[in-house]
Amino acid sequence: KMNTDLGQHVLKNPGVAQAIVDKADLKQSDTVLEVGPGSGNLTVKILEKAKKCIAIELDPRMAAEVTKRVQGTTLGRRLDVILGDVIKTDPLPYFDVCISNTPYQISSPLVFKLLATMPSPRVCILMFQREFALRLFAKPGDKLYSRLSVNAQMWAKIDHIMKVGKNNFKPPPAVESSVVRLVPKNPRPNISYEEWDGLLRICFVRKNKILRANFLGTTSIMNALEANYRTWCAQNDVPLEDGPADDSTPMTDVENTTANDDEAEEEWDGFMDVDGDDDDLPEFFKQQQQQQAAIKASRGAGRKRRGKVAELVREKIRSVLEDKTQLADKRARMCDEGDFLKLLYHFNLEGIHFR
Ligand code: SAM
Repeated sequence: KMNTDLGQHVLKNPGVAQAIVDKADLKQSDTVLEVGPGSGNLTVKILEKAKKCIAIELDPRMAAEVTKRVQGTTLGRRLDVILGDVIKTDPLPYFDVCISNTPYQISSPLVFKLLATMPSPRVCILMFQREFALRLFAKPGDKLYSRLSVNAQMWAKIDHIMKVGKNNFKPPPAVESSVVRLVPKNPRPNISYEEWDGLLRICFVRKNKILRANFLGTTSIMNALEANYRTWCAQNDVPLEDGPADDSTPMTDVENTTANDDEAEEEWDGFMDVDGDDDDLPEFFKQQQQQQAAIKASRGAGRKRRGKVAELVREKIRSVLEDKTQLADKRARMCDEGDFLKLLYHFNLEGIHFR
């Protein structure tokens, strides 16, 4: 009856369900977003405490079941069931608190979505597979440290609330679970979410490589940053001297970076195996490749020799990595929040942007 492809592992221990809802510290005025209500084991407990529960459920059978469970009761009037995929629901309806026994397939996109939600929810109480929870807490140098860790810790305070053994679920999942409390920082850090995440995407494309290689050695990234720089200049009335760079530009550089790019793609798959949080990256790269094609076309015969703007952008990036921050030889897996903030600050000063 359960569809484990949808991560349907129902919480059968009412004590655990109650503990999760209690940890949210709900107020009578709260609107709660519940992700994946399933048959409603958490939902009924939420409805007892909150003004309203908006439950987003992908499976129509489950949506019907939770609706039926409270139909005709006072609780029922406070429940809104939305049939659909929470990740594709954009924008999310307003909510104060999020509670979810999260289907494990959407753990990462759900966290990113909650972190980007504005206004920020007061608190999110989320059940995850143990290893995913550990990735949220991972620190520089830890094996599980990733873009997800840096983002989560940048935008929120995260606590481990309790471990939940697999036998509390029906059917039992393959691994243990953890309940995590995520409290978005309020006020939000005064930087752009898109810029910050754009920078992290590049740094963590190959988290074991030095930053110089991820930036200067990856043609698709350099081209995307050049395109962003052109946009930024146009928006800020900064004149650009375009055209091919002078003859002293070494032609061999271009070939080198192309070779590195192939390498980047090779390592790509391996990285995704380890860090499932980056499943949205191929789309990012597709966009970059389109931008790259557009630049190539606009340059005409510029395939072999970089244009003046490309050289300028390259020099800006080199100076930020090597001179201004001296982080060129560091690997993303060892960088802390302060390092990434320093990078973003100096890149932005140079007009280098990540969206
Ligand atoms: N809340 C119930 C409980 O704790 O017993 C069920 C939790 S079960 C782990 C996850 C639920 O999320 C399932 O009912 C599943 O159908 C639903 N689901 C899976 N993917 C979803 C998505 N993308 N958006 C909304 N709901 C989803």
